[in-house]
Amino acid sequence: MKSNALTINDLSFSYGGKKALDQVSFSVETGSCTLLLGPNGAGKSTLFSLITRLYDTRDGRIELCGYEIKQDTRKALAKLGVVFQQTTLDLDLTVLQNLRYHTALHGLSRKVATQRIQQELERLDMYERRFEKIRQLNGGHRRRVEIARALLHQPSLLLLDEPTVGLDVPSRQSIVDYVHRLASEENIAVLWASHLIDEIYPEDRLIVLHKGKIKAKGAIDEVLTFTETATIKDAFFTLTQGEQA
Ligand code: ADP
Ligand code: MG
Repeated sequence: MKSNALTINDLSFSYGGKKALDQVSFSVETGSCTLLLGPNGAGKSTLFSLITRLYDTRDGRIELCGYEIKQDTRKALAKLGVVFQQTTLDLDLTVLQNLRYHTALHGLSRKVATQRIQQELERLDMYERRFEKIRQLNGGHRRRVEIARALLHQPSLLLLDEPTVGLDVPSRQSIVDYVHRLASEENIAVLWASHLIDEIYPEDRLIVLHKGKIKAKGAIDEVLTFTETATIKDAFFTLTQGEQA
C-alpha cells in the first residue's frame, strides 16, 4: 500500500483580513506526482510557504511523512526538498559552492556530501559544469541546479513552485520529464505548482486551486467526470470561471 508523504487538513490562512487559503485538505502519495493547478493569485505559493514553515499555520494541520510540522518541525523538514518560485541560488558562487552550503546546512559529512553532489548533478547532466558560477548558466541550467540541491538530503517530498516559468521549450520539457521520473522511479512524492496545463502527464494527480479554495482533486479522469468536460483545459476553464491558465 502506498503511504502519504504529505497530508493537509483544513488549512486556512489570511494576510491581514484577506483570506488566501480556505479549508484546504488533500494528500500526496509517495511515488506520485501531483500538479497543483491554479491561476495567478490562487494561493499556490502561500500553500508552499505554510508547508515549508516560512509562515506559521494558524488553522489546520500539515503532516510530512507522519510528522506534524509544528510539533516535529525538524523531522518533518528533513523530509522536504523545495524549489521556490524565485531562484535562491547565489549567482556569484559556483554550482558546487551553492550545493556544498546546502549539504552543510543538512549536516552531511564532507565525504557523503561529495558523493551526493556528484550523484545528483550527474543525473541532471550538470556535473561537468560544477565549477562554473551560477551567473554563467542559463535559466534552465539554474533550475536544474536548484532541483539537484533540493534532492541532496534525499527528501521524501519535493515541492516545486512553477519551476519552468520563463524557460524555453526544450529546457522545460527536460525538467518536466526529469521530475516525473523522480516520482515513478525514485518513489519520491512530488507536489508541483503550475499554471501550465501542458505539464500534466496522464498518470498525474490534480488539485485545482482557485481563490484559495480547492475546486477539484483526483486523477485526470475523475476531474473530467466531475466537471463534465472532455479536456483538462476545459475543466480548468470551468473550475476557475474562465480565468486563463
Ligand atoms: P499564487 O502563487 O497561486 O499565484 P499566492 O499564494 O502568491 O498565489 O497569492 C495568493 C493571494 O494572496 C493573492 O491574492 C495575493 O495577492 C495574496 N498575497 C500573496 N502574498 C501576499 C503578501 N505577502 N501580503 C498580502 N497578500 C499576499
Ligand atoms: Mg506563486
